[in-house]
Amino acid sequence: MRSKTQSGSQQGPFPEGPVRTCMGCGAKKAQGELTRVALDPEGEVVVDRERRLPGRGAYLCGAGCMTAALKRKAFGRAFRGKAGKVDPLKLGQAWEPGSRS
Ligand SMILES: [Zn+2]
Repeated sequence: MRSKTQSGSQQGPFPEGPVRTCMGCGAKKAQGELTRVALDPEGEVVVDRERRLPGRGAYLCGAGCMTAALKRKAFGRAFRGKAGKVDPLKLGQAWEPGSRS
């Protein structure tokens, strides 16, 4: 007789926890899989890895989606026109391998 197997019966199509939408490609993913970007006190869009910045945030899968979001002017919409500055190079560094702090 077999005893109960420890199968991951809780794995469904949707991961647990809050789901966010990438503003670059529109994919819906678990919050932990996306990178949060928010506005720093000067209104510049920065990567908020620790999720500590107050106010509105937006979510991105990676550097490619950051570029897509730029082209779609999604930053302006996500931050309701308050995004003063977006520095693609600086933002892109967040997803470069080996750039751990
Ligand atoms: Zn994306």
